[in-house]
Amino acid sequence: MNRTKLSAQLFSLTALALLVTPGAAQQDDLKVYISADMEGVVGAVTGDQLGPGGFEYQRFREIMTNEVNAAIEAAREAGATEILVSDSHGNGENLLIERLPPDIQLVRSWPRPLMMMEGIDETFDAAIFIGYHSSTTNTEGVRAHTISSANLTAVRLNGVEMLEASINAAIAGDFGVPVVMISGDDAVVEEARRVVGDMEGAVVKWSLGFHSARTLMPEASYALIRERVGAALARLGDFQPYRMEGPVELEISFKNYMPAEVMAYLPIVERVDAHTIRFVGQDMTEISKFIAFTTRYGVGIAP
Ligand SMILES: [Zn+2]
Repeated sequence: MNRTKLSAQLFSLTALALLVTPGAAQQDDLKVYISADMEGVVGAVTGDQLGPGGFEYQRFREIMTNEVNAAIEAAREAGATEILVSDSHGNGENLLIERLPPDIQLVRSWPRPLMMMEGIDETFDAAIFIGYHSSTTNTEGVRAHTISSANLTAVRLNGVEMLEASINAAIAGDFGVPVVMISGDDAVVEEARRVVGDMEGAVVKWSLGFHSARTLMPEASYALIRERVGAALARLGDFQPYRMEGPVELEISFKNYMPAEVMAYLPIVERVDAHTIRFVGQDMTEISKFIAFTTRYGVGIAP
C-alpha cells in the first residue's frame, strides 16, 4: 500500500512539475504565515533527529530550515511580500536563523498565547504548515501526538477530535485565514484534510509505525513542498477558513489523573471524567491561552 502511494506521489510530482508554469498565478502583496514543526520533516523518525540530545539533531535543523525555505521561495514566486514564520517544535529554537531570508520575520521560543500560530492576525491571506504530524488519537503516523507528547490522550473542540493542524487551523480561522497547504507524513496529510477540509498536501514520508517511515530524500522533499505551496497559492480562493463556532467547548484528556484533578479546582474548569476536563472559551484566542497554560504551568517554572 505504501509503495503504491509512493509511486503515485512521485508520478504526480513529476507530472505537475511539467505542467505548472512558474508565476502563472501570481497575486500581489500576499501575506503568508508559516508554522513549522519538526516531526513531519523528511527523514525524521525518532528523537535522534528531534531534540538537542539527538545525534542527528543538528543536521535535521538544517533540513527543517531547508523545507521552510522551500515554502518561502514558493510563496514569494506566488506573490508573497510579507512572510512570518513560527518555529513551533520543541524549544522553538530549531530553525537556523542565519539561513532564513533577511526580509522575513521569525517567532521563536515559548510560551506564547497563540502557541504554534503566534503572530497570526486578520491581515494574513494564507497559512502553511510544514513538518506536521498526526494526532495522539491516530493509530497511524510518525511521532503521532497532540501538543504535549505522551501527556495528553485527546483534545476536542466542540466535540471534534483535534490534531495540532486543526487546532491551529481553528486559530487561523478565527482571524479569517485559511490553511492552504500542509507537509508531513501520509497520516497527517490525510487526517488534516479529513478534519479541516481541502488543502494541498506534500507527503514527504510514509509512516510504518510510531518510530519508522519510508521517506523521500531531502532534495525531493524541498521540490515537492515548493510545488505544493505554489499549487495552493495559485488557487487561494478555493480554501475556506476553518471556523469553530463560539463559545468554543474544549475538552482535554490527560494520560494521568492528577492534572485533571487539580485543574478542576478552578471554577472555570469542569471535570468530565477521571482523565478529562472541559473549558469553554469565547474564541480560539481564549482556548489557545488555556491550552498553553495547561501544558506549561507548574509552580516551579522560572524565571
Ligand atoms: Zn514538534
